[in-house]
Amino acid sequence: MTHDRPSKNEDEYFARRDAELLRQQHAAVVRAAAERERKSHHMKCPKCGYDLITGEWDGIQIDQCTHCHGVWFDAHEAQALMKTSTPNILGRVFRAVAKGVTRR
Ligand SMILES: [Zn+2]
Repeated sequence: MTHDRPSKNEDEYFARRDAELLRQQHAAVVRAAAERERKSHHMKCPKCGYDLITGEWDGIQIDQCTHCHGVWFDAHEAQALMKTSTPNILGRVFRAVAKGVTRR
């Protein structure tokens, strides 16, 4: 009889379970690191790394870098700009941005 010691199957079961737990822990650590990395870039200028601020010019929301003054539009804002019937809206927005740079 083998009741007084764990069977080989039992050992294999626990080894597999431990390996699976380690794999899951590792995956969670990797996910958390990727999430931290992503968050560290949120509202940061892709060009110089300084903070972006959101402002509204002519009803169009624009994210602008507080350092290099680069401007970014969300996809739907860019589309709204293209669809607007206001003449030369792009020129108006860019002139307003250039005038107002980091002030609202
Ligand atoms: Zn910048």
